[in-house]
Amino acid sequence: MRFRPPFCPNAACASRAPEGTFRYRRIGTYHRKSDGRDVQRFLCNTCRRSFSTQTFRLDYRFKLPHHDVPVFKALVSKVTYRQIARIHGIDRKSVQRRVRRWGPALRELHEAALDSVAARDGLNGAYCLDELETFEGNRRLQPVTVPVLVDANRFFVVGIETDTLPARGHLRRRDRERKIELERERGRRRNHSNRAVDRVLETWAKAHSEHLTPFLITDRKSTYPRRYMKAFPDRRRHHLRVDSSAARTRKNPLFPVNHTLAMARDQVSRLVRRSWGASKCRRRLRDHLWIWVAWRNYVRRLTNRTPGLTPGMAVGAARRMAAVNELLRWRWPKRMPPAFLEPKEHTFRGQFPSG
Ligand SMILES: [Zn+2]
Repeated sequence: MRFRPPFCPNAACASRAPEGTFRYRRIGTYHRKSDGRDVQRFLCNTCRRSFSTQTFRLDYRFKLPHHDVPVFKALVSKVTYRQIARIHGIDRKSVQRRVRRWGPALRELHEAALDSVAARDGLNGAYCLDELETFEGNRRLQPVTVPVLVDANRFFVVGIETDTLPARGHLRRRDRERKIELERERGRRRNHSNRAVDRVLETWAKAHSEHLTPFLITDRKSTYPRRYMKAFPDRRRHHLRVDSSAARTRKNPLFPVNHTLAMARDQVSRLVRRSWGASKCRRRLRDHLWIWVAWRNYVRRLTNRTPGLTPGMAVGAARRMAAVNELLRWRWPKRMPPAFLEPKEHTFRGQFPSG
């Protein structure tokens, strides 16, 4: 199938305005050395800029695209950047570049999935919220909170965030000195747990059914009721608050989120405790987590006993299991949603080739 560009990739182009029309012409091909493909070039009739099929692809300007799928799989299998680079004979920087590009794109892909659910019936059922604690650089001085919201029955990850927590108390002298130094460089480290939790709950509220009462399960942290109210104002809400001393078994109502966080800890190298792979920067951690979430929701099956069923399919966001290369295909998944997602009503489909 011939690729037809759906919009001009130049964000400043007048054809991108709501009333603009996009017209282009084909201006030949060029040969791409890295994978031997002939790539079609186009010229936009409005802004007169040229672009190619490749401009729309997530591996745009990346060399060695055949490493993408193996690198992706290693990133969700507890392998550190350094080790990935070593195994595949590539530079550690090229692993980092992939994480930086894939993270935001996969977040956008997930948002496209939530938009399509919201455009139909919306999310329903019970959702568990909890926060994982990790750190960037230094465990005592720069802790990080990772709130995550998970469907209680179908393990679908609705939202995940990372934000700062203040340095811990009772520091040793050396750490106290380092803390003063860090504050001088970057200002005081604040507790942004509420801000991060709000973002996760807002994502949920946007995709939740307008007609059904939301049901949230959390521990007894005192700030949660207010955060919940803020995300769903003027609405009836159910809130189950679980004592955190309750046994962490399958019977615990927070099991789905505990299980998901345990899985992330086991599969994302940066979260593995007492390892050399710890995060240096929480923004890269966030990118890495979005890679993991996309894999968890759309590629991996729900449980080992549910072959062929992903969490995304179980909540009605995806129509079938995705392959990793389908996650890594397009740069702007909101405008070019992958074929494995359930379409929004009236979404035009079938214009993108599968290659
Ligand atoms: Zn243009």
